[in-house]
Amino acid sequence: MLVIPLQINGAAIEVELCYNPRSKSMRLRLDRLQKRPIVTLPPQTPEFEVMAFLERSKNWLLKRLNQHPCPIPFINGNSIPIFGQDHIIHYSPAPKSKIELQGSRLVMQGPTDNLSQALKIWLKHHAHAYLSQRCQEYAKIVGKKINYVRVREVKSRWGSCSQAANLSFSWRLVFAPLPVVDYVCAHEVAHLVEMNHSRQFWAVVELMCPHPKVHIHWLKQNAPRLFSYG
Ligand SMILES: [Zn+2]
Repeated sequence: MLVIPLQINGAAIEVELCYNPRSKSMRLRLDRLQKRPIVTLPPQTPEFEVMAFLERSKNWLLKRLNQHPCPIPFINGNSIPIFGQDHIIHYSPAPKSKIELQGSRLVMQGPTDNLSQALKIWLKHHAHAYLSQRCQEYAKIVGKKINYVRVREVKSRWGSCSQAANLSFSWRLVFAPLPVVDYVCAHEVAHLVEMNHSRQFWAVVELMCPHPKVHIHWLKQNAPRLFSYG
């Protein structure tokens, strides 16, 4: 089986090439079970043609993959995006738990039984550290004070802001690119000024994040994928 790597929206995807003497042109489909893209193509198709074909098909593929993302468990060898950067999980068993980022590797040591749980806790801390720092920076811009910032497992929204100036975020934002995360921070901090979604509210958001629409669109498109990790 021939497999070629393809970068789509920051995610590395493997595309299977299936040479078929009877095929007249290149065809792309998504394997339902494995969620792997498969290209059927005539033998001797030059590689540059395959790459150009995949480049043209990216939007279609992305749409299909986002509709039904396959679960990506926290196991050795799997790639997960952390603030938009892909990291490959390198796990080795050890009596004591240790997790750290080394370049594009997420190096994990620890007992085998709670691997997934340990990584989830680490990711929550990682998300919290960034989110709270960013929100504090934004709060200074709008001249408001935050009571506390926390991250939680939430299904329905990416962030919330209470009357008591408590900001809550989904820990799964850790899988989104930083500009998108920054937008969510700006959105919730802006609620410290305007507890609504009025025109004034969006003007406050834009003080911190000039193009919110791009990020709102990204979140809509990629939400199922952010829930597929772990
Ligand atoms: Zn809001």
